[in-house]
Amino acid sequence: MSNVPSITLNNGVVMPQLGFGVWQVPDDEATAAVTTALEAGYRSIDTATVYENEVGTGKALASTDIAREELFVTTKLWNSASETWTREAVLREFDASLERLGLDYVDLYLIHWPRAMREDYVTIYRTLVEIAGSGRAKAIGVSNFKQPQLERVIADTSFVPAVNQIELHPNFPQAELRAFHAEHGIATEAWSPLGQGRGLLEDPTLARVAAKHGKSPAQIVLRWHLQLGNVAIPKSVTPSRIKENIDVTGFELDADDLAAIAGLDTGTRLGPDPDEFDWS
Ligand code: NAD
Repeated sequence: MSNVPSITLNNGVVMPQLGFGVWQVPDDEATAAVTTALEAGYRSIDTATVYENEVGTGKALASTDIAREELFVTTKLWNSASETWTREAVLREFDASLERLGLDYVDLYLIHWPRAMREDYVTIYRTLVEIAGSGRAKAIGVSNFKQPQLERVIADTSFVPAVNQIELHPNFPQAELRAFHAEHGIATEAWSPLGQGRGLLEDPTLARVAAKHGKSPAQIVLRWHLQLGNVAIPKSVTPSRIKENIDVTGFELDADDLAAIAGLDTGTRLGPDPDEFDWS
C-alpha cells in the first residue's frame, strides 16, 4: 500500500492528494491502466465524459477487490456538448456517466469548462448542487473556472465548490487562483501536473533538484504539488511510470528546492485559456 496523503474537502469528504488521470487513454486500454494504478496504490481516478473511457474505467473498478468506499472516482460533465442546458439535461448526463462507470455514486462530479461567454454554467452548477444533495455525488466542483466564475456560482447558490481542477504545473503555478481557493475553502486540483511530460521534465533546474534527492524530475514535480497542498492527477500508461508517480512520499523539498522550482514560472499555459474555450 502507498502512503498517499489526503485532504479534507469543505464538506468533510476526504480526497487523496494523488490520483490517476486517464485523459487520452483509449477505452479499451483504460481497464488495464486503471488496474495497474490501483495495484500500485492509487485510490483516486480522474475521468470525464469527453475522455470516452468511463466504461473501461468502470470495468477496472468492478473487477478490483478494493472496497468502493476506499476508492475516489471523479468524472466531469462535458458541458460543451449542448448549446443550452436545462436541469433535466444535466441530470440525464450525470445518470449516463454513472451507468457507463457502473457505479451508483461518484465521489466528485465537475463541470468540465465554464464556457464563461454563455453563462449557462450557473444553471448547470445549481443542478450539481441538487445532485450533491441526493448523495449520488459525494462532492461537486468545477474545472477551469477563473475567479469571476467562482464568485458568480458562490454568490448565486451560496454553495462553495469543493474543488476547482485547473491547469497547474511549475511553468504555470496559478498563485493568485490558489490564494483565492485557500481563502474560500476550495481545494486546488492540478491537471497536467507534469506539464504533459513535455519540456518541463527536461529542465536542468529540476534535474539538479532530482539528483540531490535521488528522485526523478517527475517525482520532484509531484512532491512540489503535495507540499503546495494541491491534489495532482498525473497520467501515464507505462506501468513503471505509474508506480514512479505515486512513490513521492518519504522525502521533503526544502526551501532552496522550492525557491528553485518557483523560478520555473513562465506564465504560459499548455492548454486553452478558459475565457476562450468553447468546444462544441
Ligand atoms: P500530465 O502532466 O499528467 O503528463 C502526462 C504525460 O507525461 C504522459 O503522457 C507521459 O508522456 C509523461 N509522463 C508521465 N509520467 C512520467 C514520468 N514519471 N516520467 C516522464 N514522463 C512522464 O498530463 P495530462 O495527462 O494532460 O494531465 C493529467 C490528467 O489531468 C489527465 O489525464 C486528466 O485526467 C486531467 N486533465 C484535465 C483537464 C481538464 O480540463 N479538467 C485537462 C487536461 C487533463
